[in-house]
Amino acid sequence: MKSLTGVTLQSLLEKANIGVVIHNWDTKVVYANPVALKLLRLTHEQMIGKDAKDPQWRFIDEGYRPIQPENYPVSLVKRFKTPLNNEVLGVVDSKNEQPSWFMVNAYPELSNTITESFLVVTFNDISEQKNLFSYSAIVDNAKDVIIVTEAESIEAPLSPRIVYVNKAFEALTGYTKDEVIGETPRILQGKDTDKAELAKIRHALTEKKSIKSTILNYSKSGHPYWLNMDIFPLTNKYGDVTHFAALERDVTSDKYYAEQLESKNKGLKEIKANLESIIREKTQKLHDANKKLYRHAYYDDLTDIPNRRSFTEQAVKQFSRAKRENSVILSGLIDIDLFKRFNDTYGHAIGDQVLVSVATSLSSFFRQEDVYGRYGGEEFAFCILISDQNKALDICERLKDKMAQSMITLEDNTELSVTVSIGVSVATADKTTNLTDEIIKADKALYEAKNNGRNCVKISE
Ligand code: GH3
Ligand code: MG
Ligand code: MG
Repeated sequence: MKSLTGVTLQSLLEKANIGVVIHNWDTKVVYANPVALKLLRLTHEQMIGKDAKDPQWRFIDEGYRPIQPENYPVSLVKRFKTPLNNEVLGVVDSKNEQPSWFMVNAYPELSNTITESFLVVTFNDISEQKNLFSYSAIVDNAKDVIIVTEAESIEAPLSPRIVYVNKAFEALTGYTKDEVIGETPRILQGKDTDKAELAKIRHALTEKKSIKSTILNYSKSGHPYWLNMDIFPLTNKYGDVTHFAALERDVTSDKYYAEQLESKNKGLKEIKANLESIIREKTQKLHDANKKLYRHAYYDDLTDIPNRRSFTEQAVKQFSRAKRENSVILSGLIDIDLFKRFNDTYGHAIGDQVLVSVATSLSSFFRQEDVYGRYGGEEFAFCILISDQNKALDICERLKDKMAQSMITLEDNTELSVTVSIGVSVATADKTTNLTDEIIKADKALYEAKNNGRNCVKISE
């Protein structure tokens, strides 16, 4: 080592950029260098000869609590005869609201006799650093959970080892720092923690990558909660991943509300589907009822062929058509012969069956464009357009024969049939031709047919 004879202790102390105060063993100040005087805002006279009990010292700890003289660094070193390292304390004076913060070191300079022993205190001002916020305070007091684990041997049963947890972790999990440091975060997992999700996390960690995940964890007392976590690697100055930090948040209530919302939506969807099906059903019923009403208004209930109202409406249109096409119009009435007697012999129900059978024959006889219907009890009417009036009788004869073929078979295989009489009017369409007049003519002709012995056709003159 180079000789230091040129360096005098005195000038070293005067020039060193650190406060140095030397006390006698009885704590009286025997020396204070200029930096110490400046930092303590005291003069040489105010310093020298003052002991630890002097009321001019006003020290506080980091919690801003006054420190008692027996706990001043110099008193502690004197009492325990051991050095004091990097103790932080604040100095307050009446002129300054903000304390000055010092990093203090002290040691006993022991000799054979007390009178030759000293207590040396050195300190420097750390107010600037102290007044800056502390990152560790942020992490410690963050409301989100923060865990740091080692990055080694992720797959090993007791790995990764937890090296840090903050206060929020303790509050959420019920485990204290001391209980979990050295443990693995696996102690927080349980029977319903998603195994596939855990495998995904493990895989990311093995690859030293970041990962976000939401998994079910369990508190110390076994209470489950949903944890959303954001895990990311921490590297040292060489770029090696040494640790993983996890920022975690309890999202149990978010999850709960999301599930509630989902089930509410599902309920609403079901209600909507139910309503739709009810509406469909009601619409169908209404549709069916309307159809029934329409059929009832225009079709005969017994025979299911057009009724008198329908016949009349359609026949009026048939007259208009006849005028447009200049065709011959045939209006006729068909009356079953001696039907009263038939009813009396076989009963009204059998009579009904005959009416249905006759109506069916009528339907099969007429063409699409022909108009016909049940006009009264056992009376039917028709209104058809023909091109040649000479064919009228032939058509009506064929119709009469068709009606006579309308047979019904009784249980004992007896076949029953009826005959009809037909009265017809034949008209060429001109301005004055109309349904009412032609029906009157047909009715007269029918009357004549009846008088003529029935089962015949009569054309009105
Ligand atoms: P005619 O040859 O002179 O026409 O004799 P008829 O017995 O047919 O004449 P009338 O007009 O006196 O009698 C008609 C009968 O038709 C009376 C009634 O019993 C029967 N009748 C009318 N409507 C129905 C019905 O819906 N069902 C049944 N079974 N019979 C009916
Ligand atoms: Mg009649
Ligand atoms: Mg009759």
